[in-house]
Amino acid sequence: MRFPFKNTYARLPGEFQEKVTPAAVSWPKLIIYNEELGRELGIEISDDDAREVFSGNKLPEGAEPLAMVYSGHQFGHFNPQLGDGRAILLGEVGGKDLQLKGAGRTPFSRRGDGRSALGPVLREYLVSEAMYQFGIPTTRALAAVTSGEEVQREELEPGGVFTRVAASHLRIGTVQYFAARRDLDRLRELVFYTNTRHFLEAQNTLDLLSEVVRRQASLVAQWMGVGFIHGVMNTDNMSLSGETIDYGPCAFMDRFDPQKKFSYIDQGGRYAFGNQPGIAQWNLTRLAEALLPLIDEDDEKAVAAATDVLEQFPPLFEAAQSEVFFQKLGLKHGDWALVQSLLDLMERDEADFTLVFRNLSRGRDAFLEQFKDQAAAHSWHQRWREESPDLNLARKVNPIFIPRNHRIAEVIDAAYRGDFSPFHQLHQVLSHPFKEQPAHAVFEEMPAPDEVVQNTFCGT
Ligand code: AMP
Ligand code: MG
Repeated sequence: MRFPFKNTYARLPGEFQEKVTPAAVSWPKLIIYNEELGRELGIEISDDDAREVFSGNKLPEGAEPLAMVYSGHQFGHFNPQLGDGRAILLGEVGGKDLQLKGAGRTPFSRRGDGRSALGPVLREYLVSEAMYQFGIPTTRALAAVTSGEEVQREELEPGGVFTRVAASHLRIGTVQYFAARRDLDRLRELVFYTNTRHFLEAQNTLDLLSEVVRRQASLVAQWMGVGFIHGVMNTDNMSLSGETIDYGPCAFMDRFDPQKKFSYIDQGGRYAFGNQPGIAQWNLTRLAEALLPLIDEDDEKAVAAATDVLEQFPPLFEAAQSEVFFQKLGLKHGDWALVQSLLDLMERDEADFTLVFRNLSRGRDAFLEQFKDQAAAHSWHQRWREESPDLNLARKVNPIFIPRNHRIAEVIDAAYRGDFSPFHQLHQVLSHPFKEQPAHAVFEEMPAPDEVVQNTFCGT
């Protein structure tokens, strides 16, 4: 077994972390190990060792397990004391964080058990790897195991441990933690660490803020382009590196609805599909506030400089979103009105987001099939053809297969009965989301009315 650890976060002062040890589980079984990713990171491991390491039962040489501190705004309310309560950072390999989720309690577990149910483990595995295949910045899945133990949620559920790989686990909430304590020395240290790790061009705090603004604008635009709803965009679930992180109650929408939300706890729809850009900007404003004391000693100057940077978010997002959607139409550029009129039609006709875009490159009839108002769809299609779209471009950016929520629910149901074949099958299909797979065409389809799965749960 070989893990080329080179741990930098563990070298930061004690205020940044609590050293912890994963708690062993009784009867781990390896569900899946992502060999390709492991190899990229320079990891060499047998299946037996993978089962032991990725369940937290055995520590690889060089690991320095720790729980990271952070705060966060959860549904708009600031909680100064969050931190890794069910996640343990083993260390860094190939410059990336290796983290176990569900490996036992930490000093930040509060009333939680530090464990994870199997459902969220499988969901995060499938969704984060699909995002990777779509080419969207994301944390990745390295392994999933069943723990052989049960965890108490609304009901007793089988437990699991998920191993994820991230550019880092630094969050807006990490910055907020030191800002809330007015610990400017540590805050400065965090900014320096973040810039060194992620933003080599950055000279100072304001540059860090600009980079995070730029990356988040691009990230959220890409989410919008695949109908992804994160579900819990709290400031502690937004990474500074610009990767999608903390897949909890996330889901992809089937029929297009800007108000769509899946998360059971998000009753008000704060994190609904169409709210995501505004929420990202709200979160970035919280980041800017936390950074103010380092931006300038003079408050007014600090606020003015930070405001300038924050004001770049809307144009950056709009430009990124336009680029994403024009590409979906097979166009290099164009008039947003063309995109908007299609989205309006889709919303009115409750058309499937993924299939409408994909079917553009499958001929006019396939496209029209997605709509009720044939005349309107027909005339839109004609307008679009006049722009001479590049269908190969459209094929490259419009997935055929997405991890539809009812499919994930099926996978989880089967796994709870001990059958992992649906998990492996869906994972296999999603590893080539842009490729026609006639044998798996059923995975393209939106759920039948009786198959719709409306709610997702955080699984905490
Ligand atoms: P999340 O749902 O990932 O955004 O988590 C919010 C906070 O709750 C974080 O501080 C987590 O570490 C903590 N948390 C969530 N689930 C658990 C659990 N089962 N045990 C302990 N802490 C948890
Ligand atoms: Mg979280």
